[in-house]
Amino acid sequence: MYHHEGEDVFVIDGHLHLWDASEENIKHQGGEEFIQCFYDYHATFTPEDRLWDMDEYRKYGADRMVEDLFGNGAVDMGILQPTHLHEFYKNGFNTVDDDAELVEQYPERFITNGRWDPRDGEAGLKELERQKEEYDVQGAKVYTAEWKGDSKGWRLDSPEAFEFLEKCAELGITNIHPHKGPTIRPLNRDAFDVGDVDDAASSFPNLNFIVEHVGLPRLDDFCWIGTQEPNVYGGLAVAAPFAQNRPEKFSEIMSELLWWLGEDKLLFGSDYALWNPDWLVETVMEAELTEEHKMEYGVEWSHEVKKKVMGENAAELYDIDIEAKKREFADDAIAQRFGLGDHYSGAAAD
Ligand SMILES: [Zn+2]
Repeated sequence: MYHHEGEDVFVIDGHLHLWDASEENIKHQGGEEFIQCFYDYHATFTPEDRLWDMDEYRKYGADRMVEDLFGNGAVDMGILQPTHLHEFYKNGFNTVDDDAELVEQYPERFITNGRWDPRDGEAGLKELERQKEEYDVQGAKVYTAEWKGDSKGWRLDSPEAFEFLEKCAELGITNIHPHKGPTIRPLNRDAFDVGDVDDAASSFPNLNFIVEHVGLPRLDDFCWIGTQEPNVYGGLAVAAPFAQNRPEKFSEIMSELLWWLGEDKLLFGSDYALWNPDWLVETVMEAELTEEHKMEYGVEWSHEVKKKVMGENAAELYDIDIEAKKREFADDAIAQRFGLGDHYSGAAAD
C-alpha cells in the first residue's frame, strides 16, 4: 500500500507482463525490433538511476518481478495482460500459460487475463474455452496489431471479432482489454487505432472495454468514444510515466480523461517491466495538475480520486473486496517474504 496524506492507498496494478525476449526465444527479426522498441520506451520515461540494462530487460523472471512489485514497490495486487506474438518469439512473448504459473504461485495477489485473436477461428474459440476452464479468466487482452501469416492486424468491430466477443459474454469473460495506442516497431500504428472500440462497446453493453494506453496518441478520439459509452474505461499504462519527466503533458492527459470519462472510469497500470512500480507508483501519487489545467478543466487529482484510479476502480471490475484482501495480506506468503505483515494489519485496524 502507498502511504499518502496519512492514509494507506490500496494499489492494484492493472497492466503487468512477465515476458521472455531472450535471444534464444526470438525467431523473427520482428522480435528483436519489438524488444528494442520497448527498451526505447523504457529509457525515454525512466529516471536515469533506475534504468535496467538490456540483458535484464529481455528476461527478468517471476522472482524479480514479485520483488519489484511487492517488495520495492507499493503494489498490493496485479493483473497480468498476456501478449503472445508467436510470429516473433518461439515460445511466445508473454503467454496466458506463463501468467497462470505466477497466479498459481500467488493466487491471492495476481489475476491473469486470457487472450484471443479472431484469426484463429474455431481453434481460437476452443482455446478461449480452455482458458476459462483452466484459469477461470475474468478478462481478456486483445492485440489488434499482432501479425499472423500475411496479416498485419485485425479489427475489433469485424464479424469474426464479434464471434469472440459473443463467446466472452457467454463464458463470463467480461473485461476486454484492447491495446489501443502507441505503436511498437515493426507493428502498424493504424492497426492500433481506437476507432473500432466504439461499435464493439455499443454492440456488447454487458462487456467492459478497458482501453489500454487510452488510445495515445489519439487521446481525443478515445475521449470522444469513452464519454458516450458507459462500458468504456481507460487503462493508464504509458500515460502514467509521463508524470516523471513530462509533468505538464501528464497533467493535460489526466485532465482530459477526468473531464471526459470521469474518476470512476480510469485504471492505473505500470506496464511492468516497461516501467517499474518501485518508482512509478510514487511518481503518479505525488503528481499534480497544473494550475492552468485545474482552471481550464475544473477537475482534481485529489486523494479521493487517486484512491479510485490506483485500486478501487479495478477492484470494482474484478470483484475484489479490498478490506478482505488487506486482512488476508497481513499473513500471506508475500507479506512474510517482505515483512509487510504489520503494514497490512495496521491498516486493517484503522
Ligand atoms: Zn503492456
